[in-house]
Amino acid sequence: MEYEGVISRYRQWMDLPGSMPVISLQEGNTPLIPVPRLAGELGGGFDLWVKFEGMNPTGSFKDRGMTVAISEAASRSVRAVICASTGNTAASAAAYAARAGMRALVIIPEGKVAAGKLAGAVAYGAEVVQIEGSFDDALSLVVALSEKYPIALVNSLNPYRLEGQKTAAFEICDRLGSAPDWLCLPVGNAGNITSYWMGFRQYDARRGSGLPQILGVQAAGSAPLVLGHPVDRPETVATAIRIGRPARGEQALQAAEESRGRIIAVSDEEILSMQRRLAQNGVWVEPASAAGLAGLAHEIQAGRFDPNGRRIVAVCTGHGLKDPEIIAKSMPKPRVMPATQSALEEVCLRAAGGD
Ligand SMILES: *Cc1c(COP(=O)(O)O)cnc(C)c1O
Repeated sequence: MEYEGVISRYRQWMDLPGSMPVISLQEGNTPLIPVPRLAGELGGGFDLWVKFEGMNPTGSFKDRGMTVAISEAASRSVRAVICASTGNTAASAAAYAARAGMRALVIIPEGKVAAGKLAGAVAYGAEVVQIEGSFDDALSLVVALSEKYPIALVNSLNPYRLEGQKTAAFEICDRLGSAPDWLCLPVGNAGNITSYWMGFRQYDARRGSGLPQILGVQAAGSAPLVLGHPVDRPETVATAIRIGRPARGEQALQAAEESRGRIIAVSDEEILSMQRRLAQNGVWVEPASAAGLAGLAHEIQAGRFDPNGRRIVAVCTGHGLKDPEIIAKSMPKPRVMPATQSALEEVCLRAAGGD
């Protein structure tokens, strides 16, 4: 049967309105890529996969939830949707709203959204407003506005977002035949960790697929769940998790505790270094997406995590193309050479190992 997106594939596992049009871009069904060389570099003796959510239609996992949130809004004949965003929610809301013939209004923190995300939101035709404030300010504002006007909130406070996002847990269990031993993922507003935990528990209750332990990872400059209090001025290169007051923070802590996992923080250097290592394995992700694996590496190195014999899945939440500027900053620029064979022959020799 042809693949038609997460709603048609997992509808019977979702709590949805009785009748609802399906607004889909065939999101989900993303690759689960084995990365044995990376596992070896981290000490070896375990199986490691990357769930590459950057392969969704707008380049992040947000599409799994957005298809459901927008479909539900369409079932109520809503004409417009609103969200606060660090970028990926904006691009996703804009695309699915366009697909549904709705207007999208997205509120972003000024100067803190990666170029590829902002371009997406604009290309899909959203009305984009930058505010002189943080993501957390933007979220409070859109919550208040959505209560006052007939405009649907599509942040992950919207429970239909979680209904869609939990399908990633189903896909992992379907592929591996059961839940992995550990799941590592970045944590920002904490909708995704909450969704995965919902999904794994639901599958386990009906299918006996087992439960993973969850390692949630925040950026050190933006780690309210590790510090135990909100962060007023969160800072990190991983802009998708630059959030000081996670809307689902309580549920994230609960997921970590119930799964006998934990939430930790890693530095921006660790995040960028893992972004490079992943790219060396052919998987280019945006910085935030490398945080889960950076956390795993951090824990193994500190001797707090024995991976031996485990099956570990790291969720890579968004595509590297979203944030090209970070590469321009952290990697050397391509050289310019004369357009002659003799000039290029020297380069060929070196590449071929002749040196
Ligand atoms: C949204 C997002 C996150 C954080 O997910 P939460 O549900 O907010 O915790 C991480 N990485 C990327 C690429 C994202 O777009």
